[in-house]
Amino acid sequence: MNALQPAAIATTGSLDVEAVRAQFPILATRVHGRPLVYLDSAASAQKPQRVIDALTRFYERDYANIHRGVYELSQRASELHDRTRRRVQAFLGAADWREIVFVRNATEGINLVAYAFLLPRLAAGDEILVTEMEHHANIVPWQLVASRTGARVVPAPITPTGEVDLDAFAERIGPRTKLVAFTWVSNVLGTVNPVADMVALARRRGVPVLVDAAQAVQHFPVDLRALDADFLVFSMHKLYGPSGVGVLWGRAELLEAMPPWQGGGDMIERVSFAGTTFNDIPFRFEAGTPDIAGIVASAEAIGFVEDLGLEAIARHEGELLAHAEAALAGVPGLRILGSPRRRASVLAFTIDGVHPQDIGMLLDLDGIAIRTGHHCAMPLHARLGLAASARMSIGVYNTHAEIDALATSLRRIVGMLR
Ligand code: PLP
Repeated sequence: MNALQPAAIATTGSLDVEAVRAQFPILATRVHGRPLVYLDSAASAQKPQRVIDALTRFYERDYANIHRGVYELSQRASELHDRTRRRVQAFLGAADWREIVFVRNATEGINLVAYAFLLPRLAAGDEILVTEMEHHANIVPWQLVASRTGARVVPAPITPTGEVDLDAFAERIGPRTKLVAFTWVSNVLGTVNPVADMVALARRRGVPVLVDAAQAVQHFPVDLRALDADFLVFSMHKLYGPSGVGVLWGRAELLEAMPPWQGGGDMIERVSFAGTTFNDIPFRFEAGTPDIAGIVASAEAIGFVEDLGLEAIARHEGELLAHAEAALAGVPGLRILGSPRRRASVLAFTIDGVHPQDIGMLLDLDGIAIRTGHHCAMPLHARLGLAASARMSIGVYNTHAEIDALATSLRRIVGMLR
């Protein structure tokens, strides 16, 4: 257990945000002469010192290629790398460490499932069910494999409040549905979907399910045992870890039945020009040298959120989000996209008469970093009748004062431009 834990969690059960902030060196940075207010954690989270230290420590003391050397250093590097896999297994509540596949990011995890699992099962007329609120990463890979086979990607609609219409979702799971894939948390609306119910609807019809947890694992506890899905993906860089490392979890029996999707070193058993046999899972899907240091340091990212406690993180971020909703509602002409019953971390908004790009650029002059554009969710923006929006998103290090600074800046911008 990390020594920071008692200091970081006050007796009230709420999180000592200043103790958390002290662990993030970048938060001392100034932007345009102003203190950085980082409200773009949904795009990528900042890194605590322990993750940064783990990266440098690994390169300084333990670095070598893995699973290949008989010498001590390579053994050490392999052990550190393999330890992260067990850490991820425990973090997700996976039954078996062999179900954890390291990839580059959530996107690559979805592509792996699209090509190695789905493509061999697809025929003309088949369907892949997604929702209207998906990130492009959970639309385009399915379109690519669908276009090779004459299958099609079908979107389940959302309600006016920005939730998945569960009746319509259930109706669209038909005899031609070969996979259902949906996000746990919308990266635009912040909607927390009732994933266990959605998984159950698909399972009842015998359809495999992929859950995109890219905006979930960093905000609340995730337990695969309660979910009953078939595949789940996330990216370490959104979980306070290094960029370049993603996780695909898949049921062992499904992974075992899947062919490799990329060929190269480490994923083979025997190679000859007469033919090649392949390694066991998960190595069969991990061709070539991975981001070894990134994977090693990812264990510290998991340690960081576990030591704070994901329940405490969820409480802190929930309070902040409620404060943000109230604070932004007071900005003239500002409209928050969606009003789902359960929301995590993300608020997207528009301001009448002000282009989102201008909002982002003017906030930047005040040191405030938010995201503007379509946030890789063009179909969702089209459904909302918008080309773009502005989006603030909360991480564990954000404060009430930062939300107030955002609201004050927005009011000033509105006064200036409208
Ligand atoms: N899914 C969701 C819901 C996301 O928000 C994102 C990134 O923002 C992704 C998938 C893709 O993540 P990555 O770019 O790390 O692969």
